[in-house]
Amino acid sequence: MAGVIRRLDETVVNRIAAGEVIQRPANGVKELIENCLDAKSTNIQVTVKDGGLKLIQIQDNGTGIRKEDMEIVCERFTTSKLQTFQDLSAIATYGFRGEALASISHVAHVTITTKTADAKCAYRASYSDGKLKGPPKPCAGNQGTQILVEDLFYNVSTRRKALKSPSDEYSRIVDVVSRYAIHNSGKSFSVKKQGETVADVRTLPNASVVDNIRGVFGNAVSRELIEVGSEDQKLAYKMKGYISNANYSVKKCILILFINHRLVESSALKKAVETVYAAYLPKNTHPFLYLSLEIAPQNVDVNVHPTKHEVHFLHEDSVIESIQKHIENKLLGSNSSRTYFTQTLLPGLSVSGGGEVKSSSAAAESSERVYAHQMVRTDCRAQKLDAFLQPKEKPPPDPEPAGPSSTEPVTKATQPDAVEVDDADMLEVLDEPGAEVPKDGKDNADAVQRKRPRKEHQQQQQQEEEDEDLTAAETPKRRVIKLTSIKELRTEIPENTHTGLQEMLQNHSFVGCVNPQWTLIQHHTKLYLLNTTKLSQELFNQILIYDFGNFGVLRLSTPAPLYDLAMLALDSEESGWTEEDGPKEGLAQYIVDFLKKKSEMLDDYFSMQIDQEGNLTGLPLLLDKYTPIMEGLPMFILRLATEVNWDNEKECFRDFSKECSAFYSIRKQYVLEAEPGEEQDAEAASWRWKVEHIIFKALRTLLSPPKNFSEDGTVLQIANLPDLYKVFERC
Ligand code: ADP
Ligand code: MG
Repeated sequence: MAGVIRRLDETVVNRIAAGEVIQRPANGVKELIENCLDAKSTNIQVTVKDGGLKLIQIQDNGTGIRKEDMEIVCERFTTSKLQTFQDLSAIATYGFRGEALASISHVAHVTITTKTADAKCAYRASYSDGKLKGPPKPCAGNQGTQILVEDLFYNVSTRRKALKSPSDEYSRIVDVVSRYAIHNSGKSFSVKKQGETVADVRTLPNASVVDNIRGVFGNAVSRELIEVGSEDQKLAYKMKGYISNANYSVKKCILILFINHRLVESSALKKAVETVYAAYLPKNTHPFLYLSLEIAPQNVDVNVHPTKHEVHFLHEDSVIESIQKHIENKLLGSNSSRTYFTQTLLPGLSVSGGGEVKSSSAAAESSERVYAHQMVRTDCRAQKLDAFLQPKEKPPPDPEPAGPSSTEPVTKATQPDAVEVDDADMLEVLDEPGAEVPKDGKDNADAVQRKRPRKEHQQQQQQEEEDEDLTAAETPKRRVIKLTSIKELRTEIPENTHTGLQEMLQNHSFVGCVNPQWTLIQHHTKLYLLNTTKLSQELFNQILIYDFGNFGVLRLSTPAPLYDLAMLALDSEESGWTEEDGPKEGLAQYIVDFLKKKSEMLDDYFSMQIDQEGNLTGLPLLLDKYTPIMEGLPMFILRLATEVNWDNEKECFRDFSKECSAFYSIRKQYVLEAEPGEEQDAEAASWRWKVEHIIFKALRTLLSPPKNFSEDGTVLQIANLPDLYKVFERC
């Protein structure tokens, strides 16, 4: 429905400061577009000649203007949108002062062609200085309005001269149309130069906001957008929009700001968001933001300037702060997840870097000086200073396959408090009763020297040597393993070692745990995300192979019946048990009988102890103070019976080590274990402590990381700190 146009009250006229509305063609276009939108148009086409100075034509499909209103439509303060001053504070439409068309008609030749829904035909009229030049003439036309503005500023030569080149004016017009198009997704817009067939910007009626941003600003920004949205009832505002993430930056900040659907500028808000991004973007680069703000109309003062550009509103500082916070949170959240998964290969580490120590990145980087400012400052709660103080341990040029140090006191069992059984009090540690005393002790040539000394154990070793007089008799000496299968398995490990990764693990700084599965470390100037599950499993796997036959025992305080464990496993979905496999009871009994038969060997080689009654009584002690989580025990038992090739010695040891290390690895269950309830913190602290002080400490010296870890996502480089430094220096 076309609104009824009335003359405004004198008082209203006087209270509204009249000003110069049209400063340049783009201001005119903005006013004209707002009129189209006020008239409920869904298709708006703008045609321009000479940057709008020669011609601006805007065609819409809105309500149209009634014939009887055509006489006054270009007079000052005629509007169909506002009647009393009170209305001014609750205005919901764009125009309200009836100034735009009047102003334009004072500085240009204006022709309006319009048709309302109920008119039989369209009418056309021309205006000069706000007055009709002649009576409206009937003509052909579709519903809607076409406004033609010609020879803008023909009578204001100073203004005309002040304007820059037509091409500059044109790009400002394109800018205005584009922004309204982005804000008004669902409505179609186009803008083109007269005579051109192709529009410079065109949006489609069924396009989304992001589609429109892509259409206008390109793919580079549209694929790096984060959706934002916040509201605050107290502050009476709502905000939504899209902002670029930290991967994207431009030379000049683009802030498309709409307040109550009006394109405006707010230098205060711009400054506030720029401050947030300054912490994420490289110096002198800026973000892209499209924000649509809705503020209770009575709180907005749009009357600051005739062009209605710069807007102020009630509680401005609080609203801006609230928006700022929201954007900050969104940026933080998006940044990490995005970077984590975009990079799975490590550019810094040569994938084939197996044996080439010299050409590895480690060698290259060590010659590069790392300046203090290139070191990252991280959260002080997560950062461990002692990690920076770890002495560098140079591997001796030992051609022998790496093996466990003979100086390693295998069983800490002689010290009753050596193992903190913090998450499974069913476990207790006892010394290894079955350990044989080797004939020639630690100097045996076959007792393969571990490539890197287990630094953290050396002091302990020293301590034990001091106590030797008292405990020598009980301290079991390391057994020498002469089995070819084990020797072969041990040789495979260094052959498949990625030396670059190894150097990284040796010299890393522990940053913190993301969750049980993922840990952040820093090495030189790079930040890495490591898969703790995979690394810990491989660590335990290698320990099982190197320390074969030499494990201490984690003794279960209450023997666990294998039968019950097997039943538990078969009951779980993970087992994949189906009716066809036969009754669970029979299978469980079979597992018990089978493992009982292997018990002697399991105990001798792996310190896995099973008693005559078919109870599990002991598990291997793989790392000091480390106990596996018992949730994994039933599946471990089941898989020993189903997944291990018991017929081939080497395969058997390999499979057993694989299954056992999977059971010992740090897994997601650590979190499940902690839920629900208040103990969560204590529990979380416990796995975090284990990851940092047991697992990662051991990874430093004990693990020879396999080559595939550099390319299968186990180790992800997520940031290069000199780049990040730009971020941190501003914190
Ligand atoms: P305002 O928008 O502030 O009311 P304008 O000078 O921009 O003042 O417009 C004057 C009046 O002309 C509007 O109130 C409206 O009734 C009418 N009008 C202008 N443009 C259109 C249009 N595209 N479609 C329908 N009506 C229009
Ligand atoms: Mg208007």
